[in-house]
Parts: sequence; C-alpha cells; structure tokens
Amino acid sequence: MTQAPSGKLRVVPLGGLGEIGLNCLVLDWNGYALAIDCGVMFPEPHMLGIDLVIPDLSYLEQFGDRFLGFVLTHGHEDHQGALPFALRTFSVPVYATPMAQGLVAERLKEHGLSAEFRVFRAGESWDLGPFSIEAIHVTHSLVDTVALAIRTPVGVVIHSGDFKFDQTPIDGKPSDLHRLAQYGELGVLLLLSDSTNAERPGHTPSERSLREPLAEIFAHTPGKVFFSTFASHIHRITQAIELSLAHGRRIAVVGRSLLNSIKIATQLRYLDCPASLLLDAKDLPSNESDRVTILTTGSQGEAMSALIRIAEGGHPQFTMGPGDAVILSSRVIPGNEKQISNLINHALRRGAEVYHSQNTPVHVSGHGSQEELKLFLRLCKPKFFVPIHGELRHLIAHRRIALELGIPPENTFLLENGKVLEIDAYGARETGRTTAGRVFVDGKGVGDVVEVVLRDRRHLSSDGLVLAVVVLDQQTGSVIAGPDLVSRGFLPEAGADLVMEQARQLVLDSLAELPLESRTDSQEVKEQVRRVLRRYFARTLDRRPVILPFVLEM
Ligand SMILES: [Zn+2]
Ligand SMILES: [Zn+2]
Repeated sequence: MTQAPSGKLRVVPLGGLGEIGLNCLVLDWNGYALAIDCGVMFPEPHMLGIDLVIPDLSYLEQFGDRFLGFVLTHGHEDHQGALPFALRTFSVPVYATPMAQGLVAERLKEHGLSAEFRVFRAGESWDLGPFSIEAIHVTHSLVDTVALAIRTPVGVVIHSGDFKFDQTPIDGKPSDLHRLAQYGELGVLLLLSDSTNAERPGHTPSERSLREPLAEIFAHTPGKVFFSTFASHIHRITQAIELSLAHGRRIAVVGRSLLNSIKIATQLRYLDCPASLLLDAKDLPSNESDRVTILTTGSQGEAMSALIRIAEGGHPQFTMGPGDAVILSSRVIPGNEKQISNLINHALRRGAEVYHSQNTPVHVSGHGSQEELKLFLRLCKPKFFVPIHGELRHLIAHRRIALELGIPPENTFLLENGKVLEIDAYGARETGRTTAGRVFVDGKGVGDVVEVVLRDRRHLSSDGLVLAVVVLDQQTGSVIAGPDLVSRGFLPEAGADLVMEQARQLVLDSLAELPLESRTDSQEVKEQVRRVLRRYFARTLDRRPVILPFVLEM
C-alpha cells in the first residue's frame, strides 16, 4: 500500500471570487506556492479618480524564493493586468501561452518593465517545484486560452480558466474535452471552475453563429462599417476581416491597443490579415470613404475613444452619416450602460444604423452557460468543487449546479477572497482567512488611496468644499484678519455674496463669544468654525459641504 503523502495543499483565492476581475489564486504545497493569474479590475463608478484596481498580494511575501511564479490561463486583463505591479515586488517567472505572453510583454513595456517568461503551448506539461502542470486547450473569447491540470502530491487540481465549449470555433480548434475526460478517469481531487454565466441556462452560442447576422449587415450597408469590439478578441476581428474581404472593403484600424493585438496575433499566425487589405488610417482618402471597414475599440462608449468622437462629429479624419453602419460587437459591461446609450444616440443622430447585442445577434459570450458548466463537471468528476470567477450570485448558482450533478454539499466550498481551503490525505476543510483585498492605483500611487480617501472624494464631489481662513492674535485670541471663505463646487462665485457674508458674520460673532482659553486654542477655534458653518449651511441651504478651517496665529 502506498503511503498517504504527508503535507497540506492550501488553496487561497486572492481575487476574483465575489467580483468580476482581479483573478488570482494561490496553490501552496508545504510552503511552495504558485499563483494562477494576476488580473485587474476596472474601477467602479464610486471609485473616483482611480485608474485601476489590483489584488492585494501581500500573502505571497511569506514564501520568499519558494514563490515559484505566476501561471497564466490567458491574456485577458482580468487575468494578467496586475503583473506590471506584482512583478515590482516579486521577481518570479511568468508562465504564459504565446498570445498571453505577447499581450503581457506589451503591457510591461508601457511600464518600462520586462519579465522572465516561460512560454508554453496547450498540450505541454512542465514541473514547477512540487507541482506538475499541464495546459489543456479551451475555447474562449481570446485565442491561446487554457485550463490547467496541476498534479500535487495529494491529487490533481483542475483550474478551468475562462472557457466555453464552442464546437465550431473560428480557428477550428475546439476545447480538448478528451484530455479533460482522461483526467476525470484518472481522478480529479479538486475542480476550480469559471462561474461567469452560471445563471444562464443552455449553451452559449458558437462564435460562428455571428457569421450570418454580421454578413447580412456587411452586405446591406452602402457606406462605411464601423466595427467595434474588444482589442484582444482575435476571433471577432478575424470575422470582421473575412467579411470585409468578401464584400470588397478595405480596413482601417483605429486605436493603439487594437493595432498591438493585431500585430501580435499576426506574428503568431492566429490572424491572417493580408497587408494589402489594411489601410493606414492616416492615408484614408476622404473621397474613398465608402467600401471601408473601420475596425476600432470604444464599444463601451468610452469618453476618450475614437468611436465616440466620430459619432459626435469631432474626429479629425472620419465622419459618420446616413448609409453607414455601427456594429457594437461586444457585451455591455455593467456600469457602462449610460455611456453606451449615449454613443448609440449620437450615431443615430448622424443617420447611421446601429447594431448592438440588444437589437441584433452581433455578440456572443466567451463563457460557458449552465450546460457547458455541467459538461466540465461531468468530464472531470472532481471529488471537491470550488466555483471561481464571478460575483457571489454566480458562485452560488454554479455550486447549485454541482449539487444537482450529485457532488455532496460537504465537498463543495463557497470560498471568498482570502479564505484558505486546506486539503490533505484526510479531506478538505476551510481553515481560516489571510490578507486579501483591493489595492487602488491612482497615477503613480499604488495603495496610497485607501477607502477613507475615496470617502472624502465622494463627499467633495457631491457637496463641494468651503475653506475658512482666520488669523488670530496669539495672546488675546482676537480675530486679526478673516474669516475669509473660499468655496469650490459649492456655490457659484457670483450670487453667493449674501450667503457667504452672513456665514462670515456668524463665525466672527461665535468666535467673539468663546472664552479666552478656547479662543487661544487653535484646535478649539477650528472646531467652532466648522460647527458654525456646518449648521448654517445645513439650515439655510440644506447642504453639507466639506468644511476646511485654517487658523493662523500671529
Ligand atoms: Zn477571459
Ligand atoms: Zn476572466
């Protein structure tokens, strides 16, 4: 009889559970750790002024040189975007497929960084400390996406990555169901699986299902086609290029991120785009404006994007008008509804036809729906199951699916970021919690904007600021100058004189009433100024600006 391995596997999600984005999950066998993915999240509307959100990786510090590296499932930002920050702290190798490597390298270059890459392809395996990893091809909205089968001394852990089971993918390479089934036969200890679409019944339609509706639009548009999708969606870009070719259109690519990913995919032969087809946007003659596809990003109506500027009529090169078509070939990222609607309204006002996922099938998800999640579970037949990659509602829906398929409830774990799942020869259990959370990036500052700073920003942005400056005599506490009141985002300069004059007078009166010992104490004076102004503005205007008193003593 073989002896049970002595040791513990710890599974620690640092991001991506209970949220969309920030994907990062650590596997630790007896003090040797690897991290799967290292993604970002784009700031939510209430995170004012924040450029990016990254996961708190301080948990990884304890491993020192036993932290063996980052292993990426694919090159989407929610899986690799935090690497430029993480690699400043951890100089470890990054294991990535060629497309993911290309996208990460490009991103690192923007930060003036480089990394030690170990490039792998689907079907390859390699050892990493006590782990042995195999990459298994899965279909997704990005080429070169893999699931990972990770052999550990206690058993095989399968991480699904982001996947759908597209049986008719554009590149003719379906998910490697066969390999997943083989692992299922050998025995899978733990499955960690993508929950994004766990609430959607049925199957996610194939990327190929878009061909007909898109062809229809290309065939019947007399003018320009503005085709907008995510920069890294190579399959979708392939479709736009093939349709342009079929309908005698040349293509102008607008946008740096799109040009980059087309360049990388072409080098890696994931994209076959004849150079003769591509027009440099700069060379586009104004009279040859029809029979052109303008491939661009900006499908979320982003304020700085070329597409919104074209739709608003403020782009130096391109115009939009009757006979043109705008195709928003992407999903609506929650929170962006308003600006997308704004984009659609502008395009319609110019007389263009607008096709988007709510009126025409011009987009399919890259994530599997319920039947595909069931198939993944059936193929792997895992002993333990942890839903990952989703908000709590998605994780709960996915867990419910696992239960339906007969996985015992006590073998499923609804983990949160920072929760520790421990597995040894005797079973699996949650054993506590470690540091995890969100770190805000604002300009060059990483982590210096904390929740209380954000609270101030929200307060300032909704109620404005009143600055009160008063100069006091150090001995007598009498007012030498001021109070001067300056406001921003509170009342317009003009017309506020009366309110501000009354406020000034109230502050003066109340300071005169203070006993001498309080009047010579600048802290007390500040508090008094704040109190008087707060009450006054609340009573007269029903507003609560941030009040910032400055007391100078002379
Ligand atoms: Zn993805
Ligand atoms: Zn993802």
